[in-house]
Amino acid sequence: MNQNSLKSVVLVGGGHTHALVLNALKDAPLAGAHVTVINPGSTAPYSGMLPGFVAGHYTREELDIDLAALTAKVGATLIDGRAVSMDPQQRKIGLEDGRTLSYDLASVDVGITSRMDGLAGFVEHGVPAKPLADFSAKWDSFRSSAGIKHVAVIGGGIAGAELAMAMAFALRNHAGPVSVKLLDRSQILSANSAKAQARVRRALGENGVEVLEGIGVAAVTANGVTLADGRSLDANFIVGAAGATPHGWIADTGLDLKDGFIAVDQSLESSSSGVFAVGDCAHMTYNPRPKAGVYAVRQAPVLLRNLRNALAGAPLSHYDPQADYLKLVSLGGKRAFGEKMGIGLAGSLVWRLKDKIDRDFMKQF
Ligand SMILES: Cc1cc2nc3c(=O)[nH]c(=O)nc-3n(C[C@H](O)[C@H](O)[C@H](O)COP(=O)(O)OP(=O)(O)OC[C@H]3O[C@@H](n4cnc5c(N)ncnc54)[C@H](O)[C@@H]3O)c2cc1C
Repeated sequence: MNQNSLKSVVLVGGGHTHALVLNALKDAPLAGAHVTVINPGSTAPYSGMLPGFVAGHYTREELDIDLAALTAKVGATLIDGRAVSMDPQQRKIGLEDGRTLSYDLASVDVGITSRMDGLAGFVEHGVPAKPLADFSAKWDSFRSSAGIKHVAVIGGGIAGAELAMAMAFALRNHAGPVSVKLLDRSQILSANSAKAQARVRRALGENGVEVLEGIGVAAVTANGVTLADGRSLDANFIVGAAGATPHGWIADTGLDLKDGFIAVDQSLESSSSGVFAVGDCAHMTYNPRPKAGVYAVRQAPVLLRNLRNALAGAPLSHYDPQADYLKLVSLGGKRAFGEKMGIGLAGSLVWRLKDKIDRDFMKQF
């Protein structure tokens, strides 16, 4: 088929859903379409293995999904860049470098950011936990440098706690002063079950993580953090892990949003026909779920089917998110806590199960 008669399908972001869609195209290409992927960098980290990478259990190669290899295998184009605008009327996407791409169908899977723009000094001195690629690179360089290591993690949700334990574990043999603090303005792990809270609190203690609760952070400085009560804590690696913030450019797309996330219906389609949104950047209006990789993964077959159906002019399929899923939390060393339907277990066997699930996930690529 002539390249010009092909429809243009643009996948914005190399998040988990898009990586799986690309992978599935190896077996059955999208008929009548050319696929373009926009992502900053040629790889995207797999979130399940991020705490293990931070702790030193996995290498960067093991953590990363190779988007360049995937796109090459399926004849798609990978653009190393960042989308900064989308005009659903003109069906155009603008890139940071000034280029513009036209699309017939588009899907957005750009994740979220943990950048704390409202916190004084964070943009200059803080490291957001998301996007994962930027965080991983900064952690790698901090971990391998010599000298004092004072880490402060702002936000005591499960991701903040998991990262704090992983960092403390990685630094346990560091020659020089080390401290890891987990800061929360209310109580840590407040969204988790009592069982998870108790087990993770114990593991934080075992890893030497100091927990400071009920006190907000007023500012981040070049030397650490200033607390709301005026105290200062020394820190030279300050991680933002409080909340999920949508990427700012999405607000100007004109798409219907919910709290800044792209509102999608059961077909994963936004308010603009032919524009889909998946993963953390989407809000499933019909059945809101927490931001978790498991939903991004399960959305992939539905998104792929709907791209095919939309190209063929066929009705779209629906995605029904599961109510509960197996939550697996690494506890620093090669131990993990797992919980599903109120049943919780911890130990090295659970870590081995998590390791197997994560390695199997990566093997498919
Ligand atoms: C420490 C930590 C541990 C976690 N552990 C788990 C876990 O064990 N299980 C679980 O289910 N969830 C976990 N999560 C949540 C999980 O990370 C997310 O739910 C998951 O990554 C969402 O995937 P996604 O498809 O939305 O895209 P993401 O994985 O967020 O990827 C988005 C991609 O889009 C790219 N991008 C960003 N902006 C642009 C742009 N403007 N243009 C183009 N590309 C762009 C990014 O570089 C990235 O490659 C964890 C999160 C954290 C922080």
